[in-house]
Amino acid sequence: MLAEEIKPNLEESLIKALNVKRRNQAEIDFVLKAFNFAFDKHITQKRRSGQPYITHPVAVALSLIDLNCDKEAICSGLLHDVVEDTKTSHDDLCDLFGEEVADIVDGVTKLSKLNFKSSEDEQATNFRKMLLAIAKDVRVVLVKLADRLHNMQTLNYLREEKQIRISRETLDIFAPLANRFGLRNIQIELEDLCLKYLNKEEFSAIKELVKSKKHEREAQIQKLKIVIKQVLDDNSIRAEIQGRAKHFYSIFAKLQQKNVNVNSDEQLNELPIYDLLGIRILVDNIKDCYAALGVIHETFRPMPGRFKDYIALPKSNMYQSLHTTVIIPWDEKPLEVQIRSYEMHEIAEHGIAAHWHYKDQASNQADLSDAEELKWLKQLVSWHTDVSEAKEYFSGVKNDVLTQEVYILTPKGDVIALPVGSTPVDFAYKIHTRIGDTCTGAIVNEKMVSINYKLQNGDMVEIVTSKNGHPNLSWLNFVKTHQAKYRIKSWYKKQNRDRHINIGEQLFAEHFGKAESEKLLKSEDIKQVLGKLNQKNVEDLLAAIGSGDQSIAQVETKLSHLRPQKEQDLSKEQLEKFKTRKAPAKGDKADIPELDGLLYTIAKCCMPIPGEAVIGTISKGKGITIHRADCYNVKQVEPERLMQINWKNKEMKTYPARINIEVIDRIGMVKDILTLIADGGFNIRDFKVTERPTKTTALLKVILDIQGVEELKQLTQKMLNLSDVLQVERL
Ligand code: MN
Repeated sequence: MLAEEIKPNLEESLIKALNVKRRNQAEIDFVLKAFNFAFDKHITQKRRSGQPYITHPVAVALSLIDLNCDKEAICSGLLHDVVEDTKTSHDDLCDLFGEEVADIVDGVTKLSKLNFKSSEDEQATNFRKMLLAIAKDVRVVLVKLADRLHNMQTLNYLREEKQIRISRETLDIFAPLANRFGLRNIQIELEDLCLKYLNKEEFSAIKELVKSKKHEREAQIQKLKIVIKQVLDDNSIRAEIQGRAKHFYSIFAKLQQKNVNVNSDEQLNELPIYDLLGIRILVDNIKDCYAALGVIHETFRPMPGRFKDYIALPKSNMYQSLHTTVIIPWDEKPLEVQIRSYEMHEIAEHGIAAHWHYKDQASNQADLSDAEELKWLKQLVSWHTDVSEAKEYFSGVKNDVLTQEVYILTPKGDVIALPVGSTPVDFAYKIHTRIGDTCTGAIVNEKMVSINYKLQNGDMVEIVTSKNGHPNLSWLNFVKTHQAKYRIKSWYKKQNRDRHINIGEQLFAEHFGKAESEKLLKSEDIKQVLGKLNQKNVEDLLAAIGSGDQSIAQVETKLSHLRPQKEQDLSKEQLEKFKTRKAPAKGDKADIPELDGLLYTIAKCCMPIPGEAVIGTISKGKGITIHRADCYNVKQVEPERLMQINWKNKEMKTYPARINIEVIDRIGMVKDILTLIADGGFNIRDFKVTERPTKTTALLKVILDIQGVEELKQLTQKMLNLSDVLQVERL
């Protein structure tokens, strides 16, 4: 069959459908323009059925017309496959049909790239959250659902394997989504089609059952209609009573619930006819809904626990109705009854599209992108008054979840959830540590972006990696996820391990003296201390010291705990060390007011400095010795020989000072600076690394707590002594 041959028919079907909905000529012209455009674009393509491809977008458009969608949505339905399948760009569509249409088509194209692999609950939930989040315009979802509906309707032309995969996806994602938007008719049709492909046996058994019970069902409905009409009339309630055949999928659910074997004719035949049908009562207004309910409950015995008031508590898809189950006296079987107003019925049948239709009529326009509509959509998303329903389809989805997460697509169409504000680096680390470590750039929605770009809902992100790429410490300034932060830091630690071990050894030697330090590192003592410092071996300890994660003073304290008796056995090197270390001068009375006029010495085992918590020990002949409060030796002393003392300047205030340090950008530089500051005992309040455009130098912005100008001068000098520090500037 040639496309040209059926063109007049397709065109006519569109015009006819639009006329039935009383759409105006301008709308019809707009739709036909899109039809002609799509027709030309798809002219050489065929569907699997052998039909010209254009039949598909036309079927989608007809569904959208049926849903009373606006002209932009209908056109988007006609054009939904042109970007994906033909050489048409967003800009082309924008020029011809306006930005709205171009954006909707864009959204649908994006959705069709999504890849739904597993039927795991979490994936499905993520996926639906994602759909809602990226479909800022609800029309995207409507077009997508209409697209899926027609694909399901024509599924018999595909291979069985594909039929099953698509049906599974439809049942997991799109049928619940249709329900979410209250598109009841689409939901029912999708579910029944899924059943047909996923549970062939059950489907044909149910189909047979429904067919064989047709007469019985219709007779029952007739009887029920007469009885109910009579009692409502008696109570002056104007009502329309409808019998409804349940759809196959809901009968299937009922059979499963009752554990009925579909292969057993006997069991199927025993099924009460009321499991196949329901009664719906339509009334004028809410007051009549409750009045009708009263009458029904007076006439028939209600089944306890089966009454649900969705008028007071509407479902999250805006569905309103009263549901009850009553016992039919003539055969003692339960019958489901729904009571609702005509307006509620419209919403129950057409969901979001009905709401739209009303608005369309009221304001003579259907702009779903305006603030009012978005507010409504947001409310729809956050509305979870019906707990069971919310649980079923949106477990864990709350408004805050939606606003705190962004949903990002991989090039393969997988959905990744990240905290708001996340960057391509966060995304890269989420995919794989190696990708994060070697990430050098990112392509978002086919455009190159900077590595600290803030990802938006629905962005499709591709990470550019390079063999020689490696993390940069400045990334820590913008990454959002803990995973990324942790990985960047551990990469640095790993890279610098050898270097850190070296530095650790040097620091050790500086502190304890070269000979002593070598002896110490091989000693049993150090091995005993390792566990207390959470280190596996001596190398790890040295690396930790070298990277600044572990202070040498702490190691010394732990060591001193092991050998209190060795206090006097100081090596020459150690003694030398004490001399160079700037300890408070002996008897400096101003330092410790409590000791005014008394003889005291500073303990050599722990060497306290101003600012540290201290305690005095009183010994005969020696006078008072000042120890650090946590010194092991103090614990050996009887309480009556202890003396509570304070440095005069213990309470001495520190002030935050801002300094900028310009350094040659090399691995480990930042750690070196940090180690230097930390070893000086300064508290670092804030620390940022900025790369200079030339990339050979970096600017470190540090805020630290400092006591005064003297101290700062000394620290600055120490920094400048490092070969790679170019400049230290006080701000
Ligand atoms: Mn399509």
